[in-house]
Amino acid sequence: MKPLRIVIVGGGISGLATAFAVQEASVAKGLVCHCTVLESASYWGGKIVTHRAGDLVTEAGPDSFLSQKQAGLDLCAKLGLTEQLINTNETGKKACVLWGGRLYDLPDGLISFAPRQWKPLLRSGLLSWRGLARLGLEVVIPRGVSGRDESLASFCRRRFGCQAFERVLEPLMAGIYAGDAEQMSLLATFPRFYELEQRHGSVIRGMVAAKRTASQTRGTGSGHTMFVSLKNGLGDLVAALTARLREQGVNLRLRCKVEALRVRSHQPGRWMYDLILDDGSALSAEGLVLATPAYVSAELVRPLSPIAGGLLDMIPYASTATIALAYPAEQVAGAIEGFGFVVPRREGRDLIAATWTSLKWPHRAPSDQVLVRCYVGGVGREKVLDADDHELVAKVRGELATICGIQAEPRYAEVNRWWKAMPQYTIGHLDRLAQLGAALSRYPGLVLVGAAYRGVGIPDCIRDGTVAAEKVLAELAGDRRRTEVR
Ligand SMILES: Cc1cc2nc3c(=O)[nH]c(=O)nc-3n(C[C@H](O)[C@H](O)[C@H](O)COP(=O)(O)OP(=O)(O)OC[C@H]3O[C@@H](n4cnc5c(N)ncnc54)[C@H](O)[C@@H]3O)c2cc1C
Repeated sequence: MKPLRIVIVGGGISGLATAFAVQEASVAKGLVCHCTVLESASYWGGKIVTHRAGDLVTEAGPDSFLSQKQAGLDLCAKLGLTEQLINTNETGKKACVLWGGRLYDLPDGLISFAPRQWKPLLRSGLLSWRGLARLGLEVVIPRGVSGRDESLASFCRRRFGCQAFERVLEPLMAGIYAGDAEQMSLLATFPRFYELEQRHGSVIRGMVAAKRTASQTRGTGSGHTMFVSLKNGLGDLVAALTARLREQGVNLRLRCKVEALRVRSHQPGRWMYDLILDDGSALSAEGLVLATPAYVSAELVRPLSPIAGGLLDMIPYASTATIALAYPAEQVAGAIEGFGFVVPRREGRDLIAATWTSLKWPHRAPSDQVLVRCYVGGVGREKVLDADDHELVAKVRGELATICGIQAEPRYAEVNRWWKAMPQYTIGHLDRLAQLGAALSRYPGLVLVGAAYRGVGIPDCIRDGTVAAEKVLAELAGDRRRTEVR
C-alpha cells in the first residue's frame, strides 16, 4: 500500500499536536503515513516560548493551561511529562482587581458562582449594595432567545448587571482573549454560560446544580489545581513533542515558509495539494492541515475558495506584549501578595494584568528574587505597543509603582511582543466557521486547525489537532478505499 502523504503547515502546539495524533491514529487504523511539519520560524512551538535567564524561567507567551480540559494533561501523560506537571501555589492564593485605582480581592473561583464564594465579594466593597442586589437578581432574570449569539458584554450586563460586569467579569473574561467584551461572541467564548442559562434559566442556579452533581459523583478530584504548568516551563512540552515526532519518523522542517497552495485533481473528487515554499521548491500531499494563523491560512486557501479566504479574513487578531521583571525579594516584600491582579477596561490603563509569577509558580525564580509578569495591549489598547522596549518597561514600572507601590529597580527585564497573536471570536464566529466548513467541503483531506477556530487555550488547540487528524485520515482512507475498488 502506498503511504498517505500528509503535510502540516505551522509548528505551533496545534500543528505539532496534529502530527502526534496523525501518527497515533494511523497506527491504530493500520495506515502508513508520511507526515511532514513545515514551520516558517527557526524554532518549534509558535506562541509557546520559554526563556531561561540565570535561575529565572520566564514564559514569553502562555505560562500554564487549564487542567479541566483533559487534552493538555493527556498529551503530557503520553509524552511522559506527568511528573513534571506543577500546580499553582495554593498558599496565599488570591487574585485582585483594580477599581478606582485601588486593589480589591476577588473571591477564589469566582467564576464558579458557588454561594460560599459570595461572602468575600459582599465584604470586599468592590460592588455597591445596589450592584450586589442586581447580581443576586440573576436567578430570576428571564432567559435570552435560544440559539441567538450576542456579545459577552450584553449577556453579562443583562444577567449580572453593569457593576458585576465592569468590575469583575469583564477583566477576567476579556483578559483571556485580550479582547473587547462588546465584540466577543458569547457562544464561541463562553458557551457554558449560554447553556446554563438555557437549561436552568439562570447561570448561578446552573452552576450551583452542576457543583452539587459534581460533588456527588466525584471523589477527591484530579489532584491538579485549575491551572497547571511544567516545572521547567511549557517549552518542555514542545521539546518532548518534537523529540517524540522525530522518533516516529515525522519529517520536521524549520525555516520553511509556505508561500502558496495549488490544487490538482487526478480523479473526480480526489485532490493533490501542491505547496510552494519560500525557497522556490514544492511539496505535494494528499492530506493538508493548515495550522497557521487565520490571516495566513486565508491567503493560502483563497485560490481554492475565495469565500473561505474572505471568511478567514473576518477573524481579527489582537496584539499584545508580556514584560517580565525580576526584583530582589526584600525590595518588594509586602507590596505583593496572591497571584496578581487584573485591570478592567474602564480603568483606562495600559496594563491588562500583572502576575506575581514566582508566588504563583515557585519554581520560576530562586527564593531571593520575585518574578513579575505584566501583560499589555489587546483590542483597543494596542497603542502602547508603539513604545520601544525601554519605554514599555518604564510604563509598566510606573503602573506597578502607582498601583502597588513597587519602586525598586528590576534586576532583569524582558519584553516579548506578540503581533497579531490573539484571534478574536467576534459575534457570529460559530456561524462563520460553519460557512467556512461548507466552503472547503469540496476539498477532502484539507483541514484548518488552531487557535483561530474552536478555542485559544493550549488544551483546545491540542484537542483541535486530534480531531483534525481523525478527519484527514478518515477522508483519505475513504478516498483510498474508493480508488482501490474502482
Ligand atoms: C501572550 C500570550 C499568552 C497566552 N497565555 C496562555 C495561557 O496561559 N494558557 C493557554 O492555554 N493559552 C495561552 N495563550 C494562547 C495560546 O498560547 C495560543 O492560542 C496557542 O499557543 C496557539 O497555538 P497555534 O499552534 O494554534 O498557533 P501558533 O502558536 O501561532 O502557531 C502557528 C505557527 O505557524 C507558523 N507559520 C505561520 N505562517 C506560516 C507559513 N506561511 N508557513 C509555515 N509556518 C507558518 C508560525 O510561525 C507559528 O509557529 C496565550 C497566548 C499569548 C500570545
